[in-house]
Amino acid sequence: MKVLVAVKRVVDFNVRIRVKSDGSDVDTDNVKMSMNPFDENAIEEALRMREAGIASEVIAISVGGTKSQETLRTALAMGADRAIHLESADPVEPLGVAKLLAKVVEQESPEVVILGKQAIDDDSNQTGQMLAALLNWPQGGSASKAEFDGDKLTLTRETDSGLETLAITLPAIITTDLRLNEPRYPKLPDIMKAKRKPIDIIDVASMGVDVTPRLKVLKVAEPEAREPGIKVANAAELVDKLKNEAGVI
Ligand code: AMP
Repeated sequence: MKVLVAVKRVVDFNVRIRVKSDGSDVDTDNVKMSMNPFDENAIEEALRMREAGIASEVIAISVGGTKSQETLRTALAMGADRAIHLESADPVEPLGVAKLLAKVVEQESPEVVILGKQAIDDDSNQTGQMLAALLNWPQGGSASKAEFDGDKLTLTRETDSGLETLAITLPAIITTDLRLNEPRYPKLPDIMKAKRKPIDIIDVASMGVDVTPRLKVLKVAEPEAREPGIKVANAAELVDKLKNEAGVI
């Protein structure tokens, strides 16, 4: 089976986010960008499926500006077989991304599409769910374990009330949680090899998909600075402060 994996280029998770002085957006000038961490889990899971003989081909796909190809190269260096870049100079909202992915699913006919549970830049947690709705496919979100048996998938999700196990029939959408696996680091020879793997570039404007933004960002602001914490000498002082100063016990 073919597995399609969506990977997004986002501000690296180690970077301290800065807001533009006009409050219009996050400042990404000269900022380190990386693959969305949940998407690394998505690629890793697809590669493990191929290594276990479940998947025959792993295709990475990204929607965004030219630099999204750097993220696709990372996916190829990790081991994806080929990549598709849906090029758009303007940002595309989760619904637009889901519609574009649905169009590629029609053409590529993968049996599984794996996405991250959320992109750490917009924290939308929407694209996988919207894609499942558009395709009318079953979905398992925030997966911490996925086991395949023919056209059946047993998927475990971590919820606030414990582990939920779902029986899903393929084709299906999976979104990943961090505990699903430990993503591999690409080795130097794999990074070199990835340079020769194909990236198919498609202009979003040529796809006949309406990606007109439906949301307008009114303002982006830093969270209010928190009061610095204090150190207490011992447990007795902690209890005293919680009782008499914070009034919480
Ligand atoms: P979101 O719904 O924006 O939180 O994103 C959830 C997941 O959808 C991400 O982890 C990616 O797997 C996928 N995704 C969202 N935006 C893009 C994009 N521009 N290109 C590729 N994949 C994306």
